[in-house]
Amino acid sequence: MHLIELYQQQNFVFSIEIFPPKTEKNMEKLKITLEKFNGYTPDYFSVTYGAGGTSRANTHEMAAHIKHELGVPTMAHLTCVSHTAKEIDDVLTKLKNSEITNVMALRGDPTAGTERFIQPEGGYHNAGELISAVRNHSDFGIGAAGYPEGHVENPNKDDDRKHLHGKIAAGAEFIVTQFFLDNTHFLRWRDKLCEEEGVSVPLVAGILPPSNWKATSHMSEMCGVTIPEDLAEALLKHETDPEASKEIGFVHVEKQIEGLLREGVEGIHLYALNSLETVKRLGPKLRDAAGTSSVLSAN
Ligand code: FAD
Repeated sequence: MHLIELYQQQNFVFSIEIFPPKTEKNMEKLKITLEKFNGYTPDYFSVTYGAGGTSRANTHEMAAHIKHELGVPTMAHLTCVSHTAKEIDDVLTKLKNSEITNVMALRGDPTAGTERFIQPEGGYHNAGELISAVRNHSDFGIGAAGYPEGHVENPNKDDDRKHLHGKIAAGAEFIVTQFFLDNTHFLRWRDKLCEEEGVSVPLVAGILPPSNWKATSHMSEMCGVTIPEDLAEALLKHETDPEASKEIGFVHVEKQIEGLLREGVEGIHLYALNSLETVKRLGPKLRDAAGTSSVLSAN
């Protein structure tokens, strides 16, 4: 099953992104946590792909666990980083053999210590090339990344959107965005793409609850994401109070979610960072939205 079918059948799709831990012990712990996540019945889980090492194989293991043990649709992320085309081909064959039928195809970030992404020898240069490789390999459902505030390496937002069109033309069936903290950025980007540039694939909003000032300012700088002034002020004011900071973050994204639902967003992808607290807090609202829309679409 391609995940695009969920976006076509439902008015709203609730997905959760997790990352695979590096050790076997923590993999087992996460499997137990995932059963609790699953109580909030997300429509699918996606599993990130690390920069290298054991966590890469663990992406496959965790995605297979979700699909076969939890019985929930899953999407394995894959990046071009440090891979030849042949290695990418082998990863895709393994995913196919495990009946994992959806791939989030990404370029990946520059490796530690380098400022720019360097194309691996015999490998791919950007996500568009990887998407074509996935498309040519087998019948995979394909997701790709989008950047409402533009990609951090590309100061020209029009050019960045042009590359997004390229990814869709290569075979991306839906787009999941980088997190954003001000809905205006997402809504303007969506309007531009859909109303002016003829994009018709689902544009799924990525939501990440800010946990504290230090982590949020770091992530925002790394990803080129703007922090609204009132949020920055509140997080800074409670910099030394972890519980108050978390609450500020949750309240902020709850408002974002309400606004996005009012604007008829096709899906929300929750960057849960493996946190049960995040899923417990935001899962019911997102589940209700998905449930309501399923009922609406059935009528
Ligand atoms: P691309 O679409 O290739 O874009 C990268 C840059 O190149 C952009 O500046 C773009 O404007 C430019 N560009 C694109 N195509 C061309 C072209 N044809 N010619 C010239 N320039 C071009 N990272 C991980 O390591 N693992 C993960 O699991 C992971 N999951 C993610 C999930 C989501 C939903 C998102 C939004 C990001 C994720 N990332 C992950 C981060 C991602 O790898 C980085 O943001 C990375 O820097 C860009 O990846 P991309 O696929 O968007 O690249």
